[in-house]
Amino acid sequence: MALELRNIRAGYGSGTIIDIVGYSFEQGFITSIIGKNGSGKSTLLKAMDAQISYEGSITIDGNEVSKMPHGERAKMVAYLPQHLNPVAMSVRTLVSHGRFPYKSFGHNLTKEDVRIIDEAMEMVEVANLSHRQVSSLSGGEMSRAYIAMVIAQKSRYILLDEPASDLDIEHQIRLMEILEELAKRGCGIIMTSHDIPMALTYSKEVLLIENGRIADDGSPDEISKKESLKRVVGVGVERVANSRLLFDYNLIK
Ligand code: ADP
Repeated sequence: MALELRNIRAGYGSGTIIDIVGYSFEQGFITSIIGKNGSGKSTLLKAMDAQISYEGSITIDGNEVSKMPHGERAKMVAYLPQHLNPVAMSVRTLVSHGRFPYKSFGHNLTKEDVRIIDEAMEMVEVANLSHRQVSSLSGGEMSRAYIAMVIAQKSRYILLDEPASDLDIEHQIRLMEILEELAKRGCGIIMTSHDIPMALTYSKEVLLIENGRIADDGSPDEISKKESLKRVVGVGVERVANSRLLFDYNLIK
């Protein structure tokens, strides 16, 4: 029961951007992928959702993601890209797209679909925007609408590319709590982030990416005690024990 990478090479055209020997993502917790701009984090997420072709194997329970029929893959993996489309449809319609993998062709949404859509919109506080056009929303509102869509998809893994970057601090924390809750329900959450203190606070595993390769991996505590984070992103972290602080880690030189 894992999303496994084996000897992955992927890129755009003929160039290799990511080159990963092996890694296994488990369900039930948050894994953060950390690395500099251009290190290949987005490319890795795109490969895991078979948005780009790859060499090697990326499997869920032994099934190759690139060979799964589209609807089956969508039940396994939901993917939230970094750049979202201001589509010309209502928030409710966008969120209902999350249910498409479960609908047979030409059938309307079931009562259960509608319940799941409503619950997802409530969770990220976009229920009050449900009739608004996505294209009319602010950046933060739009990312919450898209997050509701991936929640409604109820996939085994959710891949999120810098999901908090457009959100105000209150919604960032709320998002991390929601992701934690989804993880507790059994989902595997895999996210990229530049907010290292926040990512380490909420993650169980951290994957450091440097020039398309895994530079190091481990628990936030393990990573905080090593030099690898400093080498990969230029700053270190230290654990802080103060319950008044929002995050369990501080950035250090
Ligand atoms: P990160 O998410 O870590 O910032 P990316 O995966 O977006 O990094 O990018 C890794 C490398 O791939 C960069 O050198 C970037 O310029 C290149 N790249 C990203 N997207 C494309 C694309 N669509 N076509 C060609 N090269 C790309």
